[in-house]
Amino acid sequence: MFSGFYGGVHPPAFKTSTSDRPIKRVFMPQKVVLPLSQNVGSPAEPIVSAGDAVSVGSKIARPSGFISSFLHATISGKVTKIAYSPTPAQDRMLSIIIEAQGSEDQELKLMPARDISSFSRDELLNMVKEAGVVGLGGAAFPTHVKLSPPKTKPIDTVILNGAECEPYLTCDHRLMLEKSKEILRGLEIINKILGVKKAFIAIEDNKLSALYSMERALSAAKERGQAEGVEVMSVRTKYPQGAEKQIIKSVLNRTVPSGGLPMDVGCIVQNMATTFAIYEAVYLKKPLIERVVTITGDCVKEPVNLWVRIGTTLADLVNLLGVFVKEPKKIIAGGPMMGIAQHTMDIPITKGTGGIVFLSGDRIDESKESVCIRCARCLEACPMGLVPTVLMHRVKKGLFSEAKDLGIAQCFECGACAYACPAKIPLLDYMKFGKSKVQGAK
Ligand code: SF4
Ligand code: SF4
Repeated sequence: MFSGFYGGVHPPAFKTSTSDRPIKRVFMPQKVVLPLSQNVGSPAEPIVSAGDAVSVGSKIARPSGFISSFLHATISGKVTKIAYSPTPAQDRMLSIIIEAQGSEDQELKLMPARDISSFSRDELLNMVKEAGVVGLGGAAFPTHVKLSPPKTKPIDTVILNGAECEPYLTCDHRLMLEKSKEILRGLEIINKILGVKKAFIAIEDNKLSALYSMERALSAAKERGQAEGVEVMSVRTKYPQGAEKQIIKSVLNRTVPSGGLPMDVGCIVQNMATTFAIYEAVYLKKPLIERVVTITGDCVKEPVNLWVRIGTTLADLVNLLGVFVKEPKKIIAGGPMMGIAQHTMDIPITKGTGGIVFLSGDRIDESKESVCIRCARCLEACPMGLVPTVLMHRVKKGLFSEAKDLGIAQCFECGACAYACPAKIPLLDYMKFGKSKVQGAK
């Protein structure tokens, strides 16, 4: 394994069709499908049964372990069943299905933003937990757990991750433009919970409008005597700049050790949408019932960022969007680098779904795989300093123990190696398969 080796890649961004358009709120689903496992860790445990009436924002499932989270009804109506249903992660998962009965008010009654100055750290943390907030950048790690590092791992710096390096996705970019003050308030809560005085808001340098928006909001906050120790920082546009270990390296020049976590280098990284959700959970007492989703791709007539109730099905969103301008050949939940190709429109938008990308054959590279020419582009691209070509050979030969020794578990499936490979070898598939096997390797 090489160390401190970060090449990265520069895939085309395809962001301008949505980055300049305000987020829309135009749609209320009549049915939502809410998988119990929308977080890393243990699935939530249902506290409702088929036939129960539920109101929007009420709890419908509770955490079943330390790393788990609450789930809330995202529309008012009746629980019609709790059954296995398709999810963006491609597994069928036990899901709570709610259907509106036609007469309910679907708006959540929110209180005005409250004064939070008297709340203790534990009270703030509990509000984040009660609201079911998880990492909205895709990882879906329960946020209250992330904000509770052990005492042996003191945190001195928070990084708000505004890289949004995945092509096509602009949901965080739009939030930084439209909700900059609220994001700063969310950061203030994070800093108070962690007892941290230093924070960076790191934004890729291809999002100048977001940079200026956050800087303006920060200057105004500082004039009011707030946001002390917070800085906005631009980072190079490079995939996967938004991965936690990369953004820590870029912002703080700290290297998270192999197999370690950001807390091992005194740091916590939070995504923008998550920080906004923290603001809503604490200031407005609002549970996580909706998120911004980028609906885009060359098949979509009018690419858009939408506020979407969690649990809305892709089929309903497609009905809303109308006829495609081109037949989609690939539908991806998430971005094209780390997202997951979908085979059914029955999947719901989950807490971790930042975008749906509909691509025609024009945007898909279908060139055939050829032999490795030992060009080393894959290892130049790998942000973890792995040697994907060597790992691929080990996996092909079933030498999983050797792949493990070569660090395959460090791969976080960013896809940069496969993107860089001129021979079109599906390196990412080999990495995923190899990782799934190393658990059992002796
Ligand atoms: S997918 Fe894994 S091996 Fe390939 S570049 Fe990303 S981290 Fe490295
Ligand atoms: S990028 Fe592809 S062709 Fe080049 S060394 Fe890696 S696997 Fe081989």
